[in-house]
Amino acid sequence: MNAYAYPLLIKQLLKMPMAQASRREIVYRGDQRFTYPQFVERVQRLGGVLAAFGAGIGSRIAVMDWDSHRYLEAYFAIPMSGAVLMTVNIRLRPEQIAYTIHHSGAEILLIHSDFLPLLAKVREMLPTVRVVVLLSDEPDPQIPEGFAGEYEALIVGATLHQFPDFDENTEATTFYTTGTTGMPKGVVFTHRQVVLHTLGIMSTLAMAGLNAKFSREDVYMPLTPMFHVHAWGIPYAATMMGMQQVYVGRFVPETVLRLLATERVTVSHCVPAIMHMILSAPAAQNLDLSGWHVIIGGSALSRSLCEAALSRGIDIFSAYGMSETCPLITLTQLRGDLLDAAPDRREMEIGLRLSAGMPAALVDLRIVDEHMRDVPRDGKSVGEVVVRAPYLTPYYVGDTSASDALWRGGWMHTGDIGAVDENGYLRIIDRVKDVIKSGGEWISSMDVEGIIMTHPSVLEVAVVGGTDERWGERPVAFVVIKPGAVPDEQEIRAKVRARSETDQISRHAVPDRIIFVDALEKTSVGKVDKRALRARIAGVRRE
Ligand code: AMP
Repeated sequence: MNAYAYPLLIKQLLKMPMAQASRREIVYRGDQRFTYPQFVERVQRLGGVLAAFGAGIGSRIAVMDWDSHRYLEAYFAIPMSGAVLMTVNIRLRPEQIAYTIHHSGAEILLIHSDFLPLLAKVREMLPTVRVVVLLSDEPDPQIPEGFAGEYEALIVGATLHQFPDFDENTEATTFYTTGTTGMPKGVVFTHRQVVLHTLGIMSTLAMAGLNAKFSREDVYMPLTPMFHVHAWGIPYAATMMGMQQVYVGRFVPETVLRLLATERVTVSHCVPAIMHMILSAPAAQNLDLSGWHVIIGGSALSRSLCEAALSRGIDIFSAYGMSETCPLITLTQLRGDLLDAAPDRREMEIGLRLSAGMPAALVDLRIVDEHMRDVPRDGKSVGEVVVRAPYLTPYYVGDTSASDALWRGGWMHTGDIGAVDENGYLRIIDRVKDVIKSGGEWISSMDVEGIIMTHPSVLEVAVVGGTDERWGERPVAFVVIKPGAVPDEQEIRAKVRARSETDQISRHAVPDRIIFVDALEKTSVGKVDKRALRARIAGVRRE
């Protein structure tokens, strides 16, 4: 048999931009620009550097960098050489960072100079790391003692590596969940999975003809850190399509806004907090943001943020996924058949944008009760979201019991409560652990937050369950008021009460306590840290 058993390897993603001689560029902060042939050559040279350091199949190579062209090179060169790319969450606490690097068994560490003080603190906790390479934005950086060299110099001096074929089920990437309970857990994805996820993203975005946009003519700038689920996997798709790509380096809103304008960015993705920060930055007020397509994920998109972005001409819509899912599970697709039939087209459109969307290509999604029975697809019946897709993590590294729980019954349990309507749109109601159990009823903290956000003085809100002797739990709202506005507890409570009177939400949902704060604690990826807020009301210090 002579047929070539084509393995789904990450290196195949580079074939198309090269065969088509893409003339687009990979841009770093606006001052460094690389053509696709230059980029691919740098990937090959990085492969040469890694080979010279003895990296091979299964070696773990950790990266600590801001979003950069170097990170993109690592996304390709490390797995293509057979090693496993470990993307370090640089926003975890130092001991958690050390834990994740050590737990992954990383042998080589590529680290940006900004993180050297952190490395100095934890270096002795990293006995498996035998080679450290400096990443720097300076032209002639000083190389710290014990380092193997500096990235650019090593690349220039390296040979062009020929990446071999190997089994498509070889592990390609690993990283750690944000660890809102206990220590972060490691997930892994194979070459086959990353390739299928890439094709899944491209085909799902292509289906969303009335919103979204993702073609060779777009300019892509991620606004999620590249350590967070491969920047949602989108850099792989953008590279395969030979798109113009822009990487912002350390996240500074002014830099983001400058690059948005000068590079004429058309597609991005971020968590709601980042979009919020961008829209409220003084420099954004006179900027034309129309025609910018932004995928919001990681947390629910609120109606007020959605409307604020739409009023600036931004095509804003949701996607849902998690670290364990590579991550794409669902994506909002506006549908002409639904919009045309709707009595109020605009209302329908906003509803679809706020929903988590419809399952992506090849994703099998169910909403089940505690006995794994499907609940009706009527938009009201709720249950846990369980999924199957060709690219879900098969296990948590070195944690059999958590892996068994994740995959019980042969379906991956997301730990999210949701409902699917008759048209196939998913609504995330809450995380299982964030839902408030009060007087025998389940109250969605996200629903209460959505209502409170409609109050014109409210900038941000988070609702958590506070323990209560009589009711089990009662909702407690943490509210950040807009600058200059006057906090009014009664009015906020009245908003929720009004909704409970029309049966849109339980009467138990009206918060007993409203606590006004200057800011809400956020996790390492910019989501509200509800564990920290619960600890606050319990009077417990966060460990
Ligand atoms: P992480 O693994 O840190 O990316 O977090 C994944 C979790 O974020 C999911 O399990 C959901 O609880 C939440 N999440 C992600 N996307 C959405 C969304 N579009 N709407 C609501 N929650 C979301």
